[in-house]
Amino acid sequence: MKNKTKNILSLNFDQISHWLINRGEKEFRAKQLWPWLWAKRVKDFSLMTNLSKPLRKILAQNFCIKWPEVRDIKESKDGTVKFLLALEDEKLIETVLIPEKDHYTQCLSSQVGCSLACTFCSTGQMGFKRNMYSHEIAAQILVAQDYLQKKNSPKHLTNLVFMGMGEPLLNWKEVREALQIINHPLGLNFSRRKITLSTVGIKGVLQDFGQSKLALLAVSLHAPTQELREKIMPKAARWDLNELVSVLAEYPLARRERITIEYVLLGGVNDTPEHARQLVRLLSRVKCKINLIAYNPGPDSKYRAPEKKDILKFEQILWSKGMTAILRKSKGQDISAACGQLIVMSKLNS
Ligand code: SF4
Repeated sequence: MKNKTKNILSLNFDQISHWLINRGEKEFRAKQLWPWLWAKRVKDFSLMTNLSKPLRKILAQNFCIKWPEVRDIKESKDGTVKFLLALEDEKLIETVLIPEKDHYTQCLSSQVGCSLACTFCSTGQMGFKRNMYSHEIAAQILVAQDYLQKKNSPKHLTNLVFMGMGEPLLNWKEVREALQIINHPLGLNFSRRKITLSTVGIKGVLQDFGQSKLALLAVSLHAPTQELREKIMPKAARWDLNELVSVLAEYPLARRERITIEYVLLGGVNDTPEHARQLVRLLSRVKCKINLIAYNPGPDSKYRAPEKKDILKFEQILWSKGMTAILRKSKGQDISAACGQLIVMSKLNS
């Protein structure tokens, strides 16, 4: 039978606090309850032993604790793990655990599908279904931590990137709330320096995000001119590139912090030496480092992978002009978990 009670994870800290106070509980009860939900990942009120038995009973009568349901897990040869998760309305999303030398990074989704339809991106091809709620976004982390714990993984999840399905700044209200759960010392307790939000740049919202200081910023640029960006990512390019870069030049950064610029190299499209020189000129005023990602074509891709010699030349031009450029290896290619490959078949999500 379907559970009709409200999922307590959908209440933020203040809402839980008010709910408890309204029932005559002391103010500190929320501080006792909240860590059970997010830090200790407990799904049963009866196990919350520092709460009185009557309170545990009342909570169980009024709420359920529901995580996204794991529908499938695929593990890549290189250790990347991709989860297919069903939300409460059966909509499906994906999240990916990426192994690093001594830790994991999790790639989080923020929308079911994406409305921006960037031409190189599989998620963009499935269209937009709906925004994810804050607790759905944050609960992807619970699922991944639980998986690692059950595997007795010696490596822990320490870093988060909003680079999965969706454009996070088109769902800023819920993403902001999710970041508050993720940052909260009694919640998931990740420091902002370990969280990166990747965006194409949404006018007005990008500035709000900068003021919030909740995570580091990565910008999906992928083209050094407005004209080329309009071809590669036409909807994202509605915000003029020069205007976007002017905002990035003024973006509030802490000492030693830099903006990450993401640049997918598409063979023969944006990977020539001239493109590299244009990129250097464009970003001359921005405190940034550049992540170069070699495009990874799928069966129906309209683009091809860049050639090795062109990648190296591109990278070398950036370095020679004093820019920091890092060639990122795309992981999880054999399970379609690499950059731009997250797609849930739209027929499953209709
Ligand atoms: S690259 Fe990002 S913004 Fe563009 S379609 Fe894909 S998910 Fe959306």
